[in-house]
Amino acid sequence: MTSTPHYLRVAVPSPLYRHFDYLPPADVDAATLRPGVRVRVPFGKRDVIGVLLEIAAHTDVPAIKLKRARRVLDETALLPEDMLALARWAAEYYRHPIGGVMRALLPVALRRGKTAGPPGEAVWKLTPSGAMADIIELKRAPRQRALWQLFKQHPHGLDAPVLDARNENWAASMRALAKRGWVIKIFRAPGCNGNTSGVTPVALNAAQYAAVEKIHAALGNFHAFLLDGITGSGKTEVYLDVIAGVVQAGLQALVLVPEIGLTPQLLARFGARFDRVAAFHSGLNEGERLTAWLAARDGRAPVVIGTRSAVFVPLKHPGVIVVDEEHDTSFKQQDGFRYSARDLAVVRAQRHAIPVILGSATPSLESLHNVSQHRYVHLTLPERAGSACHPLMRLLDIRGRPLDEGLSDLLLHAIRRHLHAHGQVLLFLNRRGYAPTFMCHNCGQAAQCSRCDARMTLHGNRRLQCHHCGAERPPPGRCTQCGSTDFGAFGQGTERVEQALARLFPEAGVVRIDRDSTRHKGSMETFFEGVRRGKHRILIGTQMLAKGHDFPNVTLVGILDADQGLFGADFRASERMAQLIIQVAGRAGRAERPGEVLIQTHHPQHPLLTHLVREGYASFAAALLAERRLAGLPPFVAMALLRAEAPAAAAPRAFLAAARDRLAPACGRQVQLLGPVAASMERRAGRYRAQLLLLAAQRALLQQALATTLPALDALREARRVRWSLDIDPAEMF
Ligand code: ADP
Ligand code: ZN
Ligand code: ZN
Repeated sequence: MTSTPHYLRVAVPSPLYRHFDYLPPADVDAATLRPGVRVRVPFGKRDVIGVLLEIAAHTDVPAIKLKRARRVLDETALLPEDMLALARWAAEYYRHPIGGVMRALLPVALRRGKTAGPPGEAVWKLTPSGAMADIIELKRAPRQRALWQLFKQHPHGLDAPVLDARNENWAASMRALAKRGWVIKIFRAPGCNGNTSGVTPVALNAAQYAAVEKIHAALGNFHAFLLDGITGSGKTEVYLDVIAGVVQAGLQALVLVPEIGLTPQLLARFGARFDRVAAFHSGLNEGERLTAWLAARDGRAPVVIGTRSAVFVPLKHPGVIVVDEEHDTSFKQQDGFRYSARDLAVVRAQRHAIPVILGSATPSLESLHNVSQHRYVHLTLPERAGSACHPLMRLLDIRGRPLDEGLSDLLLHAIRRHLHAHGQVLLFLNRRGYAPTFMCHNCGQAAQCSRCDARMTLHGNRRLQCHHCGAERPPPGRCTQCGSTDFGAFGQGTERVEQALARLFPEAGVVRIDRDSTRHKGSMETFFEGVRRGKHRILIGTQMLAKGHDFPNVTLVGILDADQGLFGADFRASERMAQLIIQVAGRAGRAERPGEVLIQTHHPQHPLLTHLVREGYASFAAALLAERRLAGLPPFVAMALLRAEAPAAAAPRAFLAAARDRLAPACGRQVQLLGPVAASMERRAGRYRAQLLLLAAQRALLQQALATTLPALDALREARRVRWSLDIDPAEMF
């Protein structure tokens, strides 16, 4: 051991904006003191597991306060240098404690101190002597014999899930066979699904080919591409082709998809093309997650695919990063460490010096702006792939028209027409439940959530639910204001429209797809299977329908209420409305049959709607960008949001006012401070919420002001009465 005193700078899971210094463990092997290993350290009254960031020659901690780390948990760095650097960058950019960032980087099993094995999935195989064994020996051991016979049918071995599926109590028989020397346990790299044989990739069309060529030419260097292609134009085929080239070169690809986009269909598409796809999805248990993570880190998984948090999966040989549906808000984490996986993917690609592809049919204004600034290369796929053609989009003016549960006679007529022509119909309404308002018919008092500034939604006819805090209660028997028992359900949710459709089209096998109807695992797949087989010919659902799924026989898409998005409080409301409409519309006519898209509105002359329908998304987005420039809003300025909430109504604003006073000197005239103001829904789950907005023409100035001031905010007297957080590049304002 060296005699120079050195200090371990450790990222500790703590909400404090700093790292912590420790003395090395007493009897440590100095060779294990590498950045990226885990260390167990005393922290307050407990021991916690942190990650060693660096070994420092000096510390500001006074000697008597300096504690000794207990133990180094890893022999080699768990996190590679590049991921440690990305974590530190992200901590700085998002102004989030490094310990919290590390949480996002490490799988739960590793955070809990598990060792970083096993080397792969455990698989049992017959040994050569086992394969030739005389099973007369197993005459009195029927279970062992059954297992042996199973092995004979599976010469490549059996893994635990397969064994579990056949017989729950296989472990004892397996031990007995192993004792005879007939089976052996080996470890295989995960995801060896290996049914890639016989898949011939489609022949790319000219636009796809041009895109692939440009991206291939960029391999080995940082380039950001915006792959802007309408739904069904073959973006996924472009990713697959680019990745094939990357994998052939011995490199790895990381593919990020929105929360709901990681469907069995998509996984099957990747699995059919590539061996050993490591998928990160919510269905994995801790052990499986760790195995996949290690396979990615150690370069055994050439393709890694996952949702938001997969942006932090280390890769041994990074080759390309893909972000599919880059406009999707699920790439932004909305609590705790509020990072954008899309933005971090670009930063990461830059640091690895590899290309990144952001794909979408409805690119975010941020990405379109980056294209116009020549930071991203614009690749377009203007045509639908194969023989599918563009759907026809039209506004339905429903002013004064008869409505049956929100369905106009015009729409009903179109539904009949399409069903008659053997098409399928998809109806979109972004409001689940039976009715959004449950109201006393005598005095007009609506059922309110007692914890939120919001009305409760009626579900079925027995239950009121708050969609903001989840509170539930039965509908009241009597009005608390006037005593009347005459209540009414006003407005439509998906449940109510489903009922109406079932009444109007009893033969059509109406199915509802929303968060309530798909609560059970696998139910979504069952519904989609029913749609594919033609059992369900009308689908009604929420934005779950807008993403990730193809319905080749859907010829009519109906959007029941486009007006919801026209008057939102968030400055991104119209961008989101347009993206949703175009994405839902994109589900129609994906195969040979032409699609029709009908949009019900009470504002058929509204410039946003007419522009979108007449000129399409690209032109619409360009107009929105011009508006944002004039208004001085993102992406033309940098934005941050300081939020506070508390059970006491005045506390959040008091804190934000004090924070504003602190921030103001550092902000000068370059960084604008707006607020504090109450959130648009001030009370939620029993807490009052307020926010302070920071805007700056130059991001660096905003960052600087926050860096110098933020640590002091925790020390404010007013901070003790609130929960506060900072959101850099907020995706939603509430
Ligand atoms: P996107 O990801 O843009 O929505 P996909 O890659 O899923 O589009 O392609 C839509 C459909 O068109 C898929 O069924 C796909 O197999 C098919 N497809 C894509 N490219 C081609 C092509 N060049 N020739 C024929 N079919 C194609
Ligand atoms: Zn009343
Ligand atoms: Zn509530």
